[in-house]
Amino acid sequence: MTKIISFPSMGWSRIAFRALFEKLPGVTVFPPPPVTRDIVKMGAKISPEFVCFPFKVTLGEFVNMIENHDIHTFVMSIDCGPCRLGFYAPIQEKILKDLGYDVEIIPIQQDDLLNFKWTKTLLQLSNVTNPIMKYYDVIRCTRLALVKMSYIADITRLEGLIRCREIHKGDTTRVVKNLMDQLDNEWDLQVLHHFDKVIQTAFAKIRIKHDIEPLRVIVTGENHIVMEPFINMDIVRKFGEEGVEVHLANSLYGWILHKLHINAERKKLEKLSKPYIPLDIGGEAIWVVGHYIEGQNQGFDGFIHLYPFTCMPENTARGILEGQSPDPFYLPIQFYSIDEHTGYEGMRTRLESFIDLMNSNRQGNPKFQNKYREPSEIKAIYDKKVPLTNHSPLFSEVLTPFTNNLNILISELFNMKATKQNTKGDRNT
Ligand code: SF4
Repeated sequence: MTKIISFPSMGWSRIAFRALFEKLPGVTVFPPPPVTRDIVKMGAKISPEFVCFPFKVTLGEFVNMIENHDIHTFVMSIDCGPCRLGFYAPIQEKILKDLGYDVEIIPIQQDDLLNFKWTKTLLQLSNVTNPIMKYYDVIRCTRLALVKMSYIADITRLEGLIRCREIHKGDTTRVVKNLMDQLDNEWDLQVLHHFDKVIQTAFAKIRIKHDIEPLRVIVTGENHIVMEPFINMDIVRKFGEEGVEVHLANSLYGWILHKLHINAERKKLEKLSKPYIPLDIGGEAIWVVGHYIEGQNQGFDGFIHLYPFTCMPENTARGILEGQSPDPFYLPIQFYSIDEHTGYEGMRTRLESFIDLMNSNRQGNPKFQNKYREPSEIKAIYDKKVPLTNHSPLFSEVLTPFTNNLNILISELFNMKATKQNTKGDRNT
């Protein structure tokens, strides 16, 4: 007997979540429909008023799938603090059952992925009896999910860098949508290991303005809000259409690497933010502060912090950033505190005035002049042709995945070493 399951979408992350379960024997995945205003309203109506906004949105997604698609089993990640994500699954299940819904919410543990507790959920869902085959399926599904989430991160990063340069408005949005659909429907690991070429080729076809120096902003904050475009009113797209280069700081892939203890970038940010926030208090607080300091050091023009209205960790990060402004924190920052009442028009007018502020800094403030650095990805994509070759199976199934994994490990090791040396240097100065 197969179990039909679903999960909350969190923007494009739904592709990686689908990949984690789709090929598990005994499971049929129902991909969650995109979040809409009605879904948000449904979730907000039956949630406690001051609970986290992502709790309300994901609860609304469950109700929508129960009522309109007859889906009754959901998988939801849980954590062990320090913030409220840990209790989403049991409380949501209780609320739904109290309302008379027939529902099961299966938790998947994500507090420390190296303790492998998360595999229990996959092993329980699988209906294979042979233990060796059971583990084989779990490994294969995990590989699919990891590969897909790394490409989602690549595509969304390029989206932020390229949209501000496109000559025909809408090209980037179209390419991103096509690539994500392709990625969602590709299950052959051999093909997936070359998907980076597909991404580069697709973006290379967009005609762009060369040699421009657009304003640069970092967009970051609480993971769900940053990664769910309906909730953040597609702020990345809006900035891009206004000609601003967006550096999206959050990705599911980065989060998973962090939970595997191999995200050197996050370790570097933790060290930067340590004088202001010495420990992980939940959400993205510690990394938000680190990103801010790094962005200021790298000469960015602005910083966008997105977070749920009642999110304690992110509100704390906001307090820390505001408390140090304008000295030593002078990088302009705009905060978006988002809940079910947030409207697009208010956001649009604030965003446009922020762009005016950044432009005037570029023109009259020496701290923001001559700081622009073109992202290396732009050169890599537009200054060379990316050939699409047909490799032999030896290449595509063995050598390429092996060298890809080796490259990741080597670069992580070097990053860690560099981070240690930088920190030593910082201490000595
Ligand atoms: S980060 Fe904020 S919104 Fe997310 S679970 Fe924690 S407290 Fe809630």
